[in-house]
Amino acid sequence: MTSQSTGSLSVEATQCPVSGTRGRAVKTVTLKALLTPGALAHLDAGAAFQFCADPACEVVYFSAQQTYATTDLKGPVFQKAPESVVPVCYCFGHTRAEVRHAAETGSGETLLETITGHIQAGRCGCEVNNPQGSCCLGNVRAVLRSASHLASPAP
Ligand SMILES: [Zn+2]
Repeated sequence: MTSQSTGSLSVEATQCPVSGTRGRAVKTVTLKALLTPGALAHLDAGAAFQFCADPACEVVYFSAQQTYATTDLKGPVFQKAPESVVPVCYCFGHTRAEVRHAAETGSGETLLETITGHIQAGRCGCEVNNPQGSCCLGNVRAVLRSASHLASPAP
């Protein structure tokens, strides 16, 4: 193996160069939609990018040649921003506070059904709205689970 590359198309980084976290592949269109103009101006559009989900790591996207940090995105990244105003479901604007509230008031299932209905109707645009570039339902479920765990005592 050589670390040299001429043209980035076939080169793939699979681990975040800062945290070592195993990345998840994202499409370039996600970066095009969510990077700030200044960051986008340096995008290697032919490279294969991955998303780093580590909450403690400031890197959001990385390729074999480039990294983009949270400050290179136009908005907050769910995995890396603990604030209650940060979206869990980016497409339909459900914030962490709203999802927690749903869990606490027993309407978590209703919220999941609402979002699932939007997905089934083809309205979901996670590819260009959600920094992870993929469906938010897993994150919604995780927030619901942790919120209901906090709200109700163990059986
Ligand atoms: Zn990382």
